Amino acid sequence: MQAIIVGGGIAGPATAMALHSVGIESVILERSSADRAAGSWFTIAPNGLAALDALDALDPVRALGVPTSRNIMLGATGRELGRLSLGRPLDDGTPALSFRRPDLSAALMGEARSRGIDVRYTASVRGAETSDAGASVTLADGSRIEADIVIGADGIRSVVRSAIDPDGPHGRYVGLLNFGGIAPGAAASAGFEPEAWTFVFGRKAFFGALPTPQGDVVWFVNEPHAVISPAERAATSDDQWRVHLAELARDDAGPFAALISSSTVELAADPTHDLPRVRKWHRGNLAIIGDALHAPSPSSGQGASMALEDAVVLASCLRDGRGTPTDRFAAFESARRKRVERIVADGARSSSSKTAGPVARVFQDAMLRWVFRHLVTEKSTAATYDYRVAL
Ligand SMILES: Cc1cc2nc3c(=O)[nH]c(=O)nc-3n(C[C@H](O)[C@H](O)[C@H](O)COP(=O)(O)OP(=O)(O)OC[C@H]3O[C@@H](n4cnc5c(N)ncnc54)[C@H](O)[C@@H]3O)c2cc1C
Repeated sequence: MQAIIVGGGIAGPATAMALHSVGIESVILERSSADRAAGSWFTIAPNGLAALDALDALDPVRALGVPTSRNIMLGATGRELGRLSLGRPLDDGTPALSFRRPDLSAALMGEARSRGIDVRYTASVRGAETSDAGASVTLADGSRIEADIVIGADGIRSVVRSAIDPDGPHGRYVGLLNFGGIAPGAAASAGFEPEAWTFVFGRKAFFGALPTPQGDVVWFVNEPHAVISPAERAATSDDQWRVHLAELARDDAGPFAALISSSTVELAADPTHDLPRVRKWHRGNLAIIGDALHAPSPSSGQGASMALEDAVVLASCLRDGRGTPTDRFAAFESARRKRVERIVADGARSSSSKTAGPVARVFQDAMLRWVFRHLVTEKSTAATYDYRVAL
């Protein structure tokens, strides 16, 4: 069997490696160029790392990751609201790891290529089709490529999802602009605990910071905001964003205002979307995975981890299933739907706690302390973080 994989982010190269290990060869078509640098940092929890390990792809990328064993939640006054482990480490002791998205994506694409997988950059797919004979994609330059199956790993605005169901859902704005950056050499003076994301439910925005072993501090800001136009985004310089973000942090305890002022901005005012329930996961010889299928709000911390799990489960369904590709895609859906929909719903709930209005904010600290004591606990998150897939 031959596969076309549309998208070379995280799910794309992981799926190509998973298919390769069950004897299915593929080509990865990625629209951006190899030296793209989009995105900031995200965390891969032990459930996602176990999927990478199942593909023998954890060791090649491990050194890019910053160990991140827990989250510490603070209120705007600096009072601690709770602490949460990011799950049981892998059997070799590896805790959750945080990666710079473009670095991890490039490393996985490089690893796929080193295994003999055909990786093509600047290959933008315009449409996909299924037929009795197989499946095909059309590229922006008008050329066509055929294979037995097409897997859409093409993110939240998936072209393959539209080919499966033209009336399917689109990304839903969750009311937050996402910023990310890095403050070089700031770890010692900022005073954050090592190996932990420190989160601040601030008065005007939600902040997160992680010190790296190299002495830098990686940070992000989620600002409650109406959706912003691409023109407004393009017209705002990094200096202007730094001033804006420092102003958002000014009335909160902690070093964020100073930290951001001395930072490189890596992601500016990215409107955060999630994807409500996707009714059709596949049609004929077309299927989707990763964010194309179940983009959670970044608040879930599970986008990349779920994409990696998908890759492993899809390959095992294609290897072990019977009948047509459609039958095997149906087995994938049965194995995955309940889990991914629960995680997307959890992420949406956690986003809404970052967009509290002024009245809710008065009670927010007390409410969040209760939530982190009784609702969002190591017990309640174990089903997400301690899940393990194998090939
Ligand atoms: C630019 C960018 C920045 C991000 N930054 C962050 C971040 O800072 N923090 C965070 O938590 N999450 C971030 N994410 C989301 C995170 O990467 C995903 O939730 C997760 O990794 C799931 O990966 P995925 O491979 O399914 O989707 P994605 O990572 O979105 O990858 C999809 C890939 O498909 C490619 N693609 C899309 N359409 C086409 C097409 N028509 N033809 C060919 N290729 C196509 C895209 O260029 C992209 O490389 C970002 C995603 C993107 C695309």
